[in-house]
Amino acid sequence: MAVRPQGKVVKQTLASVRPGTGEAMPTNQTLNDQIWEALGTVQDPELPVTVTDLGLIDAVTVDGGRVHVTMIPTFSACPAIDVMRQDIQKTLLNVPGVHTVEVALSFAEPWTIARMTERGRQRLLHHGLSVPLRHAAAPVACPFCGSTNTVLESPFGTTLCRSIYYCRDCRNPIERFKPPPT
Ligand SMILES: [Zn+2]
Repeated sequence: MAVRPQGKVVKQTLASVRPGTGEAMPTNQTLNDQIWEALGTVQDPELPVTVTDLGLIDAVTVDGGRVHVTMIPTFSACPAIDVMRQDIQKTLLNVPGVHTVEVALSFAEPWTIARMTERGRQRLLHHGLSVPLRHAAAPVACPFCGSTNTVLESPFGTTLCRSIYYCRDCRNPIERFKPPPT
């Protein structure tokens, strides 16, 4: 689907913060606030949480009309990262005064659950999803043979965003990006 429901929400939110006609160029401070407000409307494509509630945004710097965003990817959100980067770019380019948007990934410090806001945690709970790490011990069904005789090979896999399981029946490695809904 080309149009996602979030797109409408983004537009409404931006319209409500758009400066009135005749208003001077926004100062860096208000532009910064508007950028954070706009970031608060960008959702993780896989989880019912915004990127700010997930604590994925590490830093935002504004230099004139140039915005640089640094994101800390979670392993649960990893396959969706390119989607989120594009959503962030598209959303921020709609903020008046923003001309270019660069979204970089930071792997310097790992994402932890502590980065999530209380609202983000509540939303995940409300949707029946527990925070990813608590699910690491749940049985994983093999996508190749359906067996649950699987074992976690490495809690973080080859990158921060993947867990590698191993099927003891068909001996296939299984990559797991996010916990299944309960
Ligand atoms: Zn198997």
